[in-house]
Amino acid sequence: MTAKPFKRKAYWNEAELSWWERAYLFEILRGLGITGGVFMRNMWRWMTGRKGALTTYYPEETRPDYGRHNRGKHVLTQRPDGRAQCIACNMCATVCPAKVIEIDAAFDPDDPAHPKYPSRFEIDYSRCVFCGLCVEACPEDAIRMVKEVPDFPGADRHRMWLGKEELLGWKPQSDVAKPYPAKAGGAAKRGPA
Ligand code: SF4
Ligand code: SF4
Repeated sequence: MTAKPFKRKAYWNEAELSWWERAYLFEILRGLGITGGVFMRNMWRWMTGRKGALTTYYPEETRPDYGRHNRGKHVLTQRPDGRAQCIACNMCATVCPAKVIEIDAAFDPDDPAHPKYPSRFEIDYSRCVFCGLCVEACPEDAIRMVKEVPDFPGADRHRMWLGKEELLGWKPQSDVAKPYPAKAGGAAKRGPA
């Protein structure tokens, strides 16, 4: 049996290449010229103390214009009395692909509506990949991510842990999803506080 000759598929939007483009070498040289020109221009600006490319030199520089849906720092939402809305179900920690959430659950016999609560809730930001799965998995809207990024860069990864008090106490000025902290009665809709 003889093999069928290979027939290249013709696409409807095939580019018509000129002989100049089909030679490739000239186009490669032209591309290198454009790239080199941008590089030299930015290098010259940098050497003369001016800002060159649209690069943010993080962490020395931060941007004020993060996108509305940027997944930045985590926030634990609060009940109207200031306690965490979290019920320590561990779903966020289970779904987290980087395994950076650690929760210790405790029991509060005086709160029959929410007897389980987190006595410890910590996130290791040195390994968090900001995927947002923890927010998606939470059945209580107890953890959110706001657009501002945490100010964490440093040489010691052990300083990149955030605890429950920090996650509760950090109050963003705005939340793209919902008002925060919840208006009186808003968070209480989920059950008696
Ligand atoms: S954003 Fe992703 S990696 Fe970070 S804590 Fe949440 S689930 Fe884990
Ligand atoms: S933050 Fe949400 S998903 Fe995580 S333990 Fe608390 S209630 Fe469960």
